[in-house]
Amino acid sequence: MSLHAVRPKILGFISEDVSAWLVASLVLLAGGILTGLLAWGTLNLFHHQLRQRFQLLASERYSRIEERFEDQEQRLDGLRRFFANSGSVSRAEFDGYTEPLLHRTQAYSFAQRVSREQRPAFEQAVRDEGFSDFAIRELNGAGELQLAGNRDEYVAVLFSQTLSRLGSPLGYDLLAQPLRRATLERAAQSGRMAVSQPMHLVSVEPAYARGVLLVAPVQREQNPPGSTQPFGYVMAVISMRQLLADGLPDAGYDYLTVRILDLSTDDQHEVLYESSNTPAESSLSASRLLRMADHDYQVDIQPSEAFLQANHSSVTSLVVLGGLLSVLLSALLYVLVSQRQRALTLVEQRTEELRAREEELRGTHGQLRGVLNAATQVAIIATDLRGVISTFNAGAEQMLGYAAAEVVGHMTLESLHFPRELVARSAELSARYGKLIPTCQAMLVEGGEEGGHQAREWTLVRKDGSHLAVNMLATPVLDEQGLWVGHLAICIDITERKRVYEALAARDLLLKKLSAHVPGGIYQFKMEFDGRFSVIYASDGIREIYELDPDVLLLNAEAIFTRIHPQDSSRVRASIRDSALTVSPWREEYRVQLPQRGLRWVRGEATPEELPGGGVLWHGYISDISDLKRVEEELRALSVTDSLTGIHNRRYFQERLTTEMARVERGGGELSVIMLDIDHFKRINDQHGHAVGDRVLQAVCERIGHRLRRTDVFCRLGGEEFMVLCPDIDGEHAHVLALQLWQALRSSPIDGVGTVTASFGIASWRVGEGADSLLLRADSGVYAAKQAGRDRVEAQPG
Ligand code: GH3
Ligand code: MG
Ligand code: MG
Repeated sequence: MSLHAVRPKILGFISEDVSAWLVASLVLLAGGILTGLLAWGTLNLFHHQLRQRFQLLASERYSRIEERFEDQEQRLDGLRRFFANSGSVSRAEFDGYTEPLLHRTQAYSFAQRVSREQRPAFEQAVRDEGFSDFAIRELNGAGELQLAGNRDEYVAVLFSQTLSRLGSPLGYDLLAQPLRRATLERAAQSGRMAVSQPMHLVSVEPAYARGVLLVAPVQREQNPPGSTQPFGYVMAVISMRQLLADGLPDAGYDYLTVRILDLSTDDQHEVLYESSNTPAESSLSASRLLRMADHDYQVDIQPSEAFLQANHSSVTSLVVLGGLLSVLLSALLYVLVSQRQRALTLVEQRTEELRAREEELRGTHGQLRGVLNAATQVAIIATDLRGVISTFNAGAEQMLGYAAAEVVGHMTLESLHFPRELVARSAELSARYGKLIPTCQAMLVEGGEEGGHQAREWTLVRKDGSHLAVNMLATPVLDEQGLWVGHLAICIDITERKRVYEALAARDLLLKKLSAHVPGGIYQFKMEFDGRFSVIYASDGIREIYELDPDVLLLNAEAIFTRIHPQDSSRVRASIRDSALTVSPWREEYRVQLPQRGLRWVRGEATPEELPGGGVLWHGYISDISDLKRVEEELRALSVTDSLTGIHNRRYFQERLTTEMARVERGGGELSVIMLDIDHFKRINDQHGHAVGDRVLQAVCERIGHRLRRTDVFCRLGGEEFMVLCPDIDGEHAHVLALQLWQALRSSPIDGVGTVTASFGIASWRVGEGADSLLLRADSGVYAAKQAGRDRVEAQPG
């Protein structure tokens, strides 16, 4: 299935193509939004819960304060009724009644109204009780108690039950102080309980000194009629701190701050109580009105720092955590997505590579199969390690007569071999390696021949039992890891080759024998298209011709030219090229200079044949013609020599004259001829006989010949006429030479005959002159000399 058909999705929903950065950013954004929403919700819930909690605490605190206010009222009312209902109350009774009530109340007192007149008796009565220094007192400017001044009426503290270590302010006149007085008056007027404005309490420890005085008038049944004035007053001295803070946690731990305002004062609302802890910055607050006696109080409650700290919001942590989680999640997703993408890309690449390799492999396999089947002339047999055949190609089927199906998996390579040959080879190998080589491996083991894996001739047995000679190359087959997994044997049928080889060998032998009995050598000589020479074949006879080994010539044809005489070498080359150019038979006679036999003449004859790729091949024969050449030269010498005198004859003269004439006509230069005719020779014949005449001819030649240069050509034209051909000599020099010859002849008498003289004519070649004209002029010179009396040299006319 194609990878492109279904695009894989990362984590099931993210397309593979989406950038990892985009995914991470989206997740971060979503995480941020979610965290924000969650934080908003949490904050709302927190505020709601905070408010609820505060309200719960505040109402609980209200209830507690209200309860305590009511408690104070009830207890004081009880004390009042105790006084009201009793005829007289003793100090002990008072103490007994009030002692259990001293709870959240600084003191309970009873103050009796005393008139000026009653004062001394009153003071005396109390002193009699044991309070010796008792007197009605008042506070001076320094806040100390002193003896009260003289006034109409006093309300002096008679009994007092207090918690304060400062003792009871017995005798303290409440009317002496305006606030207390006002309270008493209000109580007396209404006949009900009254509460003072906040004040500094007397005889109370300073920390608890701020408070109120709760006063209730005590009416006696036996009050004189018409008197509205109460008999006395019972009072509760209430420290606000004690009343409100008692039983509560320390200020630092109290969740609430409380402030109580006295609303009964007209102008400004005096603060009755204020918690020592400070209110926290918060919108939370509660306010309620409470009443105690005849006063209204406003109780304000606010949360303290401790409350806020105890109810700390978790939003910040949530935002931090949420943010952190989002970042982590986006980072994780980024890593996951990018890794996954990388992995998918890698997988795709690898798949592509694998597919390409598979294609390649399939192609190669197909090619291999094609090659195996196409190779009908070659048997390709593969075996596993045990030797069992696993591949048997069409060539093998054709050559051995088995069908592949019969062989593959059933037969071994060994079973196809001719057994006797295998046994022999096995024995040979065993001896060579010093260990037993089984016959099944004999065809696989290398014989140690140079190069290794050499093909070797084997005899295989066909299905029909007949033998087949093959050339087999056996190689080990290695897998990708280099492990030996089997063998591959490639066999070529060499029956035909062997037959051809044998036929060729027979022909070679025949040729060798034939050529051995033929003088000279047979050869094949080749010229490449670029002009290089090579010897294809050279029979043994060549060895004698060039004194070179035929094998050397096969390698280096140029060696032949080292043997050819330098003067003939270029001619031979030129004639070979000419023969190649015209494709005409080559025939050349040339000299060779041999190390042992010296200079020899040879004759080569060859028929050229054009080669398809350019170049020419000659089939030829070379023979030694030195003997023939010698005979030829002898004949030639005879043909140009005068048999009587031994000097050159007229034919030779004519040849040389033609050559020399050609020379001067071609390139200029000098050429002279000197002609001489013996004087009165007929007489010598006549006088001494013909034989003496002949001897005279020989003697004349000898005398003349001695005086000539090597380059001068001396010829007998016929009878007693001679000619000297002098190349490179002008007329003047020729004249000098002729005089020398004339002198030499006439000054040297011949035995039995005496002085023999001759007449000389000279002719030097003139530009444009022909040979006949030159000879005619020389002949004219001789005639002139004869005419002039003989025995002279006739100078050439100017
Ligand atoms: P001249 O001074 O005019 O030349 O007189 P000459 O006798 O030499 O005249 P001529 O040329 O007529 O004579 C030549 C003679 O040479 C004639 C011939 O018998 C003789 N003769 C020619 N050939 C031979 C030869 O081979 N041997 C001998 N012995 N005599 C020869
Ligand atoms: Mg003569
Ligand atoms: Mg003559």
